[in-house]
Amino acid sequence: MKNKIKKLLIFGLTGVCLTACSGAGTTKEAADTAETENTEASDKQTETTENSDNRKESSRDIFAMDTYLTVTAYGEHGEKAVDAAEEEILRLDALLSTGDENSEIAKINSEHGGSLSEDTEYLIGRSLELYKSTDGAFDIAIYPVMEAWGFTTQDYRVPGQEELEELLKGTDLSELQVDTEAHTVSMPENMEIDLGGIAKGYTSARLMDLYREHGVTSGMVNLGGNVQVLGTKPDGSLWRVAVQSPDEEWDYLGIVSIQDKAVITSGGYERYFEEDGVTYHHIIDPATGYPADSGLTSVTVVSVDGTLADGLSTSLFIMGAEKAEAYWRDHTEEFDMILLTDGKELLVTEGLEDSFETDLPVTMIRQK
Ligand code: ADP
Ligand code: MG
Repeated sequence: MKNKIKKLLIFGLTGVCLTACSGAGTTKEAADTAETENTEASDKQTETTENSDNRKESSRDIFAMDTYLTVTAYGEHGEKAVDAAEEEILRLDALLSTGDENSEIAKINSEHGGSLSEDTEYLIGRSLELYKSTDGAFDIAIYPVMEAWGFTTQDYRVPGQEELEELLKGTDLSELQVDTEAHTVSMPENMEIDLGGIAKGYTSARLMDLYREHGVTSGMVNLGGNVQVLGTKPDGSLWRVAVQSPDEEWDYLGIVSIQDKAVITSGGYERYFEEDGVTYHHIIDPATGYPADSGLTSVTVVSVDGTLADGLSTSLFIMGAEKAEAYWRDHTEEFDMILLTDGKELLVTEGLEDSFETDLPVTMIRQK
């Protein structure tokens, strides 16, 4: 068993440089290619000669959303679906990127409101729900604080206490108003929003819809380490996704076997800078304006809902293990999670008991 995992890992590692170099990767599709190439190579040949098209793989690497993305779809409609996926990624990137002054989000930020496209209205709506359900841990209005720390320009600095307090006044999302009839948003002058904590999960969810619309029943996307899969692998087996380790001590934390789900990880090790021996990372606790320091090193969320998985991975990382457990107990039908604590303890919710393999010791979180 262990051998098999090691073998799969070798293929997983081909993704490590991609994700690690982008500085944004956490989880990666690992084993699917490996299994296809290693154990099913002869099968594959038979498929081709028998003109069976359902295992034909169409795959593309794309650089967008500040990271490396891979989209893969199987079957006769795969190629068209992959074309459509690439187009959709570029469309959403242009719509949502805070750094692109022509994006809808950048315009809303500079004009303190404006018209909303369907995607943006949906994402702001989901973000407001998360803001409420996480007691403000997930806060898309944290953007000015991100700017103050230099995370938006890579001109890193540690802001002063007064400066942070002033900026935090603009993060109260109850002051952001969405008119769902006119499809507009308005917000105070000191507020700016950023959908970076949820956009990639939404994108992967959209790509699953696109695949379905194209008649694809098996596919996978890896957006800088955020993985979402459609159906099973073409041979009917589950997709195996490696959960990347934030710690060099291990190559990965384990493997989750899934179908029709997203696996999304947030961790402070993804984007950070150091000053005077202190590490400052890019997930900000809106309660303090400082990088979250909740005792967690990484949070992986597994859910059928990619948007939720992304928003929650960021939120639960801020909330810490205790609050994350309480949140999960209130939402057990919606997601499962893998938490790695600063003390290197793995906490895993019981929905993953049979689908998460690891060599590390696990504490299972149960409903009761
Ligand atoms: P990544 O996008 O690097 O995979 P995350 O999904 O955890 O990681 O998102 C981190 C991003 O979320 C940050 O770069 C920033 O844009 C945004 N963000 C940071 N803090 C918060 C917060 N408290 N609430 C919502 N979004 C946040
Ligand atoms: Mg996130």
